[in-house]
Amino acid sequence: MKTSRTLSSVGTMLLLALLAPLGAAARPPQPAGSPAPLPSLSLPPPGFVGAHLVPSEVTSAPAVARPGRTYVLHGRIVNEGSAGARGAVVIRLLRVGNPPLAIGRAAVRLAAHDSAGYGVHIRLPRALRKGSYALVACVRRAGRSGALGCVTAERHLQIGPAPSTRRARASAAAPSGPCSSGAHSLSPFGAHVYPETGNGGYTSLHTDVFLNYDTASNVFLPGTHVVLADQATQCLTDFSLDFERTSPNSKEGPDLTIGAVLVNGVPAQFTFVQPTYPGDPNGQNDPDPRAHAAGQLNPVGGPDNNPFPPACTPELMSTNPNKQFDLDGTQCPANKLVITPSTPIASGASFVVEVDYTGRPGLHNDGDGFTEGWFRVNQPGDAGGFVTTEPVATEDWMPLNNHPSSKPTYDFYDTVPVGKTAIGNGELVSQLVNLPDANFPAGSTTWHWHSPEGVASYLVENSIGSYDLTVRLPSSGIQYYEAQDLAVPKNRAATNKAIMDMQEDVLNFQVPFNGPYPFTTDGVVIGVPNASFEEEMQTKITFANEFIDLDTLHHENMHQWWGDNVSEANYNLTFFKEGLATLGEFLFIAHNAQVAAGGSSAAFEQSLVESFNQYYAGSDLLWTGAPSDPRPYTLFSGSKTYVRPGIAYIALRRILGPSNFAAALQYMQSTYRQGSVTEAQLESAFESFLPSPTASCRAALTEFFTEWWDTVYPPGGGANRPQITGPGLDGGGFHC
Ligand SMILES: [Zn+2]
Repeated sequence: MKTSRTLSSVGTMLLLALLAPLGAAARPPQPAGSPAPLPSLSLPPPGFVGAHLVPSEVTSAPAVARPGRTYVLHGRIVNEGSAGARGAVVIRLLRVGNPPLAIGRAAVRLAAHDSAGYGVHIRLPRALRKGSYALVACVRRAGRSGALGCVTAERHLQIGPAPSTRRARASAAAPSGPCSSGAHSLSPFGAHVYPETGNGGYTSLHTDVFLNYDTASNVFLPGTHVVLADQATQCLTDFSLDFERTSPNSKEGPDLTIGAVLVNGVPAQFTFVQPTYPGDPNGQNDPDPRAHAAGQLNPVGGPDNNPFPPACTPELMSTNPNKQFDLDGTQCPANKLVITPSTPIASGASFVVEVDYTGRPGLHNDGDGFTEGWFRVNQPGDAGGFVTTEPVATEDWMPLNNHPSSKPTYDFYDTVPVGKTAIGNGELVSQLVNLPDANFPAGSTTWHWHSPEGVASYLVENSIGSYDLTVRLPSSGIQYYEAQDLAVPKNRAATNKAIMDMQEDVLNFQVPFNGPYPFTTDGVVIGVPNASFEEEMQTKITFANEFIDLDTLHHENMHQWWGDNVSEANYNLTFFKEGLATLGEFLFIAHNAQVAAGGSSAAFEQSLVESFNQYYAGSDLLWTGAPSDPRPYTLFSGSKTYVRPGIAYIALRRILGPSNFAAALQYMQSTYRQGSVTEAQLESAFESFLPSPTASCRAALTEFFTEWWDTVYPPGGGANRPQITGPGLDGGGFHC
């Protein structure tokens, strides 16, 4: 995730330092003596010189649409420009891996600032391969060469059976024991990396997010709510969500209030409690305050010599390493939202939870003192929010089951002042203009985004503000969204766009290693806030500080397979996906070496060997902690999470051979798609692709994993580092 946490860190930080004054100088002069933002409500509606056509919505094909048949789709189109416009709505059929296929077209003609409905006859081809097809309606926003605007019909066409997923689904036949409380954590006993998050007793299936957001005041207005569709895995008397309403960060933290909670439409009781360390034998309401204490390590220790594991990771207000243990032993905040329905929920039952809330979304101070969450954008003419949240800050703007293994699908319905743009995961379904109301006296727009794929807790994207949003439909059948804050200076914005345009090439380069791209869309959001990192938000990678670079794009796009499609089962496995994203950077370096050598595959392999040897000879920092047992303070700052596993994957690729290594990755992608993977499952997948699967080779590989993932070495390097490496690499090689 963090730019300062990738191989490119030093170069990028230097570049940022050089660019910062230029960027500031390139901004339009700010009006003197008006520090307050312009209220967005007084801004005129969006005005574009000339024609500016925007597709507003398109209906889905009938649920039982058949190949070879003809149907009529309807929709609405808007001209936001100052001149009359002619254009064509083109309906395309999109399937990942196939070129988009135009199946219908309708001419449209609109006066300035006008909107109209349209109808399009579409004919489905007779020969359609099995799979899921999106129906996408697009227009050129201005003339033949203008940027593309598209909306996607909410329901895909499914030809043949839909693939199953390994996402944990509760069985209707789950054993029905006595009713009890759901667990307030998804971590095992002794966990010390964000053990406070996640909630048991049910599975999260789908979430609808309804935000009424005023960009000028940075406030969620009345009507804001989430609707969570869950399925019970036990009989539940009560269950919990994660929601941080307020925090010690009074300036940038959240200030949210719940109005009501309903379960299956019936008002439910709710309260907030502190987390308890997972597995506490005295139960989740343990009266001993030491059972609810924060800590970096297990046991907590702290000022009272607490012998228990931590109940939460401390929310550090400083990144100063000398202060990393300052909050150990203090009491955890009461961020567990416990909901008691009017009657217990039967095991296996589906149920719907609605939480109504209002107030200010904000940032979370995590276990290394950095902040994540809802970054406010607040400058004249450019107000809104920029969302980037790893590891746990989604709960600072919405209640949810906040754990990477919880992956509901999502729909976002963001209502925002007219002229503002909302961006969520997945596909843009519609943007509908609303008449003025009490929340938005100058009118509003509701943006609907739909993610057909499950999204892990820290990858939920929902940025709202003055963004330029376009889409590209290349031959791969994947929609590429590009969004950039309009406040990014023009020169910088043009350079950024050139790199965003390379995302398709990056993705295509990564497919042979990882297998087919797992989502229907990909994209980038470039924001202005001074967030300390970039993040692999699912299908909408966030870049902060007005800046994108190609190396980090390789890293974050690799995450779409690793971390996003296949997530870590718990936070201590962050190394698993960061190592593979770091491998993505090594592969990019190797690709450049190959190009420089006229296409020689030997140069590609030699580059990987050199990357391995360079870092294997490197500092103690790689070896003096175990990647699988991180401390919250060092989870994202250390070479143990990034470089050590990154070069371990280079060694694994040499042990298995390039084709077997790719086959192992692709096996994991298909086996654990839209799910998560444990360390044992990760190791087993690689083991099953050993070219010589003898008992001694399997034992050597087990020892390899122990050395690379799990072993803490004394300082010094040399003998104090993993000795099993790979054929042709420094170190002891791999023998069995
Ligand atoms: Zn990363």
